[in-house]
Amino acid sequence: MSAWNDRRYYPISQYFKSRFGEKVGKISVSVAETCPNRQSSKMEACIFCDEYGSAAYPFEQENSLREQITSNRIHVQRRLRAKKFLVYFQAYTNTLGRISALEERFDTALAEADILGLVVGTRPDCLPERIFPLFRATAEQSYLMVELGVQSFFDDQLAFLRRGHNAASSIKAIHRLHEETKADIGIHLIFGLPEETDERLIATAERINSLPVDNVKLHNLHVLLNTPLAALYAKGKFIPVELEEYARRVIVFLRHLSPEIAVQRLAAVANRWDELVAPQWTREKMQPLLFIEDKMAQAGHFQGDLYAG
Ligand code: SF4
Repeated sequence: MSAWNDRRYYPISQYFKSRFGEKVGKISVSVAETCPNRQSSKMEACIFCDEYGSAAYPFEQENSLREQITSNRIHVQRRLRAKKFLVYFQAYTNTLGRISALEERFDTALAEADILGLVVGTRPDCLPERIFPLFRATAEQSYLMVELGVQSFFDDQLAFLRRGHNAASSIKAIHRLHEETKADIGIHLIFGLPEETDERLIATAERINSLPVDNVKLHNLHVLLNTPLAALYAKGKFIPVELEEYARRVIVFLRHLSPEIAVQRLAAVANRWDELVAPQWTREKMQPLLFIEDKMAQAGHFQGDLYAG
């Protein structure tokens, strides 16, 4: 496991380092303004989503893309001491709207000398036909990762989250992206959901192992102010899992996940701490990560040690 620098799981930083030969940081930008759920009067926002659509820097949306890259690069540079970067189109659904506008944004980002590639966040059910040639061309000329908000492979959990798509659409999207573009595929998953059993966590890992997925990003379901989940929480109808239990579930999942699949994140990070209602342990940026890694070390567990291959 020395390839992971003594980590218990395969961190995405390690993947980037072997792919690019050096440390690479992700610069988050906010350019998309909405998503299919928020755009349609017939749909509801996802139960956990705040008004900013999961943006790290929502107030920067008024700034040009170039300005956002310039100012956010400084934070990433300081934090990671990286000299090369990927631009992460993070908030809302970036494949909604005019593809020509997205193409212009791609060109703007890739014109910067220290930008090695792009990461595009979107929904599994928002990949129109016309996006595939753009993704293919972009992945051929530089690095491209598509991050899909899969969240769960169980339809009852997706309905609880009010995602507005099912597991079949995620599976279809993953296959199509793999077959028609050379993009890396990252998927977001939420743990700490109702009806979450160890059998389901294992089935999720096995499902991912069977798909052309390059990396996963894990989030605990946390409650933000002014979200539908906050209303449920206030009525006592949703109780977030404690860190101990969340760590246990993550470890069950990781032990069954292929060691070839990189991990972007082990727990949610509240972008705006003033918005966090619960659980309070999400406030600590590094603590959940260290806690989970410690638990794995104490028990001698590694990502993939129960992976059947
Ligand atoms: S999580 Fe994404 S798809 Fe869901 S409401 Fe928020 S921005 Fe829209």
